[in-house]
Amino acid sequence: MEHTDVIIIGAGPAGLFAGFYVGMRGLTFRFLDPLPEPGGQLAALYPEKYIYDVAGFPKVYAKDLVRGLVEQVAPFNPIYSLGERAETLERVDGLFRVTTSAGNTYTAKAVIIAAGVGAFEPRRLGAPGERELEGKGVYYAVKTKAEFQGKRVLIVGGGDSAVDWALNLLDTAKEITLIHRRPQFRAHEASVKELLQAHEEGKLRVLTPYEVRRIEGDTRVERAVIFHNQTQEEVPLEVDAVLILAGYLTKLGPLANWGLELEKNRIKVDTTMATSLPGVYACGDIVSYPGKLPLIVLGFGEAAIAANHAAAYANPSLKVNPGHSSEKAEEKAPA
Ligand SMILES: Cc1cc2nc3c(=O)[nH]c(=O)nc-3n(C[C@H](O)[C@H](O)[C@H](O)COP(=O)(O)OP(=O)(O)OC[C@H]3O[C@@H](n4cnc5c(N)ncnc54)[C@H](O)[C@@H]3O)c2cc1C
Repeated sequence: MEHTDVIIIGAGPAGLFAGFYVGMRGLTFRFLDPLPEPGGQLAALYPEKYIYDVAGFPKVYAKDLVRGLVEQVAPFNPIYSLGERAETLERVDGLFRVTTSAGNTYTAKAVIIAAGVGAFEPRRLGAPGERELEGKGVYYAVKTKAEFQGKRVLIVGGGDSAVDWALNLLDTAKEITLIHRRPQFRAHEASVKELLQAHEEGKLRVLTPYEVRRIEGDTRVERAVIFHNQTQEEVPLEVDAVLILAGYLTKLGPLANWGLELEKNRIKVDTTMATSLPGVYACGDIVSYPGKLPLIVLGFGEAAIAANHAAAYANPSLKVNPGHSSEKAEEKAPA
């Protein structure tokens, strides 16, 4: 059984920044995350998209923001237990005990839950061939644009991700076809206008109301058969990649059974980011309080509150207020 002062469940932006503050307070901490790398949604879903609403960054690539957060927390020697999902949380002899999907048990004096939208997985279409060719030409996110270099790509979806990626891959893919099951798109009006303009100019092809019938290929995707969902007419498309951007299914996962007070599938917190379990704090997309917005910048603020209260809980000799980092630079912060 391994012990740190604090366990942080989830290494997305909120969890990473909470780690920074816990480290600033001189405490040890461990991140748990089922994903293979830190960064949460930013790393897993949209590493190469620009984010425009992080204070101080007019625009920043999601992956660069994650890199900065990882660098910022690094001097405090975080322990990353990646590929491990927190399964159970209990209190034993005054300590929190967390077991994980990897069969490990960790203990801590306080816990911060920064598990975002919980366990998220892409919404699959259920089309024949989809599962078999996953990772072999069937994608649910764009990790790097280079994966689509010179490829004939079928994009499936009608929301912002599908429309944005159709436009964004114009300079990378050889050929782009976007299909959506309805004639109306859910994406931002301006992006849809740009998409339809690109279609008019012959830069890409937009087909509605079309869906995927099946995906075919021996070892990799070779073609997709799509169909008009009113006439049922089938159209075979020779493609190298099928990018399915039909949204994500989110489940709270194991957290739902930890005895926390929940509100609409989120963890209810008070103004100190305390949950209903003393010693367990939460921040980021997972929390619910009046006025909450699921934004990265709010997650950062909540992380600062959660981490400083968790630090004072784990070590009662600490004050909650951390003081100013600028005044502690030489003592605590990275050189
Ligand atoms: C396409 C897209 C674009 C976006 N653009 C913007 C934008 O421009 N501006 C903005 O402010 N926001 C944007 N967002 C929202 C933003 O990404 C989220 O608000 C942010 O990621 C929330 O951070 P978080 O740390 O709370 O959670 P997450 O980023 O979801 O990270 C939570 C982490 O917890 C882990 N986890 C879950 N369950 C467990 C468990 N049981 N045990 C251990 N770990 C667990 C997950 O694997 C994940 O890594 C966008 C989201 C998407 C999908």
